[in-house]
Amino acid sequence: MDFELSEELIAVRELAREFAEKEMAPTAAKDDKEKNFRGDLVKKMGELGFYGSVIPEEYGGSGLGFLAMVLITEEIARIHSAMRVAINMQMGPALTLLQFGTEEQKKKYIPGLVSGDTIGCFAITEPDAGSDVSGMRTTATKDGDGYRINGNKIFITNAPVTTGGLLYAYTDRAQKHRGMSAFFADFTQPGVTRKSIDALGALCSPLGELTFENFRVPAANRLGKEGDGFKVCMWQLNQTRLNCAAGALGLARAAKDAAVDYCNQRVQFGQKIGEFQMNQDMIAQMIVHEEAARLLVYRAAWLADQKKPNNLETSVGKFAASEAAAYAADAAMKILGAYGYSTEFPVERYYRDAKSYQIVEGSSNVQKMIIAQDALGYRKANR
Ligand SMILES: Cc1cc2nc3c(=O)[nH]c(=O)nc-3n(C[C@H](O)[C@H](O)[C@H](O)COP(=O)(O)OP(=O)(O)OC[C@H]3O[C@@H](n4cnc5c(N)ncnc54)[C@H](O)[C@@H]3O)c2cc1C
Repeated sequence: MDFELSEELIAVRELAREFAEKEMAPTAAKDDKEKNFRGDLVKKMGELGFYGSVIPEEYGGSGLGFLAMVLITEEIARIHSAMRVAINMQMGPALTLLQFGTEEQKKKYIPGLVSGDTIGCFAITEPDAGSDVSGMRTTATKDGDGYRINGNKIFITNAPVTTGGLLYAYTDRAQKHRGMSAFFADFTQPGVTRKSIDALGALCSPLGELTFENFRVPAANRLGKEGDGFKVCMWQLNQTRLNCAAGALGLARAAKDAAVDYCNQRVQFGQKIGEFQMNQDMIAQMIVHEEAARLLVYRAAWLADQKKPNNLETSVGKFAASEAAAYAADAAMKILGAYGYSTEFPVERYYRDAKSYQIVEGSSNVQKMIIAQDALGYRKANR
């Protein structure tokens, strides 16, 4: 077993670290407070190749692989967790097009997502369809050489700003999940209404609703056959789940680092608060949760790079990393006390941002369900 990263991967990680520290850290608190969508930074990340590590060179990527994507994401999230979301919004649709798209679709849409010229998204969730994706009501009705889409998507990252992304809808509701289809849609076309949603955290990552009224999507933009949508969606979620897991690792690390620094500065009862064993307990737990999660997430990425099945391992990594991030943010808040609660330190931002990792790309409960059902033999995760 080799725990060393290649020189290439170390260099990629260094590039992402430097970029995040120089270009994101100075304004992270201000951007969060003002809920700024930093389109300029999204574009710069594209120019640096941060969205294309899992995409071959012929479509504008670098082909460096999933572990590279995880390392980049972790570094960005360590400085500004909300900004790592951009990697998922670009990489997720690009990778799904690569897997299910025609050659024409790949050539037409992947390079724009990789460069950041297209602001990506994936629209799955609806008011009555969260964890249960098959409960969606949006329909795609055949109309000449295209489809008319009608319905409402909610809690969609980038909804206020997206120019193109994945859209899931029923072409035949009677077939239940076998009647779902997937499309790559140009959201700048008529028939789309956008509405922002205020949220607890990840405030630089715009969240919103997309409502479709006779929104036309050409049949040429369907991914796979009619009825392939559920399969495409589950495949996509496994990829974007890995990116979330990497983001959670970065946030866990940031919270732990903040807690350690503070323990070594703050004096109470005549001694540094790091000397109190109850604080040491939290530091030790933060480190163990984070490091265990890192090994699990890197293993899932390594399996993806080997083109081996990794659904189970990705769920295990995502669950571990999301819980590590939530634990670390909570513990850091306890250690920093009132200073952590204030906006003077970034810990309150970590605390708010950490919660999203337990919800998105399959909640922690959904990951546990996947893991336990696999172990019990009810439904194998790697099929
Ligand atoms: C910041 C943020 C960004 C998001 N971005 C996107 C996006 O870009 N695109 C998109 O399509 N969606 C997005 N979502 C939506 C997200 O995918 C859903 O919130 C998620 O799927 C959970 O759905 P829900 O919130 O409706 O919870 P529900 O499904 O209603 O679940 C409520 C609770 O019940 C639990 N639960 C549900 N089913 C089960 C079960 N079978 N067993 C055990 N427990 C269960 C859940 O774990 C949760 O605790 C985003 C959400 C957030 C918060």
